[in-house]
Amino acid sequence: MNLVHDLHTHSTASDGALTPEELVKQAHEAGINTLALTDHDTVDGLNKALVTSNNLDIIFINGIELSTKWLSYTVHIVGLHINPESESLIQHIKHLKELREQRAMRIGELLEKVNIPDAYNHAKILAGDGTVTRSHFAQYLVEAGFAKDQKDVFKRYLVKGKPGFVSVNWPTLEETIKCIHQSNGLAVIAHPLRYKMTATKLRQLMTDFKSNAGDGIEVISGQQNQEELNRATALCKQFDLLASAGSDFHNHNTPWAQLGKLNPLPSTLNPVWQYWNS
Ligand code: AMP
Ligand code: MN
Ligand code: MN
Ligand code: MN
Repeated sequence: MNLVHDLHTHSTASDGALTPEELVKQAHEAGINTLALTDHDTVDGLNKALVTSNNLDIIFINGIELSTKWLSYTVHIVGLHINPESESLIQHIKHLKELREQRAMRIGELLEKVNIPDAYNHAKILAGDGTVTRSHFAQYLVEAGFAKDQKDVFKRYLVKGKPGFVSVNWPTLEETIKCIHQSNGLAVIAHPLRYKMTATKLRQLMTDFKSNAGDGIEVISGQQNQEELNRATALCKQFDLLASAGSDFHNHNTPWAQLGKLNPLPSTLNPVWQYWNS
């Protein structure tokens, strides 16, 4: 039987559209056997997701997607099978939350300067109790008619060189991997091909990740073409890492990132789930 693992998903605890409960139910309906919830810089959705999964035939893995700064890049590290009650993780998350709050206020100020008023308050309302992210700003700007879709908002306002861009001093790769290990989790590089890095830079990232005892890499990240799969597989092998698979599901608007819509891992790789299955 083909077991479907989806180890990268979001809920309303960060910038996903589904509550943790809805996410688990829909993952189950999509035929997923093992699901990890990996919200941005928060563990707030994990308990609800776990409770829901206990009533369904689905294995739930505690996860998180942590923001890090590597050179001038923001790199996302997924922590899998973490202990959400780990003291060092709790402290790390507290710091990230402050950084996010400061950035959100600054983004609001910068958008005011280009005649987009009150975006901070609107983004905060959309985020609710969850982590405030750039996606919430994007959602508001689309709703208010400043851009046609979220992609358009990012391109015109929220990325480097654009009026609402704010650079953040996220924790380093080293601090992040250490924190994941202190919470008994595996550190996995999220969506390695999405950082717009040259092949040389990407190898440099992998080298640094490996020398800081990083564990794995997402070889399967949503729907990829063969060339992307080959590149990610080669990196995984070259750096002797465990292989992970995740959709990066946020909502139903992105056909390439839907729950469980994932190709199987190449059989020559060692999957991350060996870690908790052994
Ligand atoms: P943040 O972690 O607050 O910087 O927000 C990053 C999130 O914004 C990502 O996890 C994506 O969900 C979303 N995002 C980033 N770039 C884009 C883009 N070009 N189009 C749509 N959403 C994006
Ligand atoms: Mn996101
Ligand atoms: Mn990410
Ligand atoms: Mn993600």
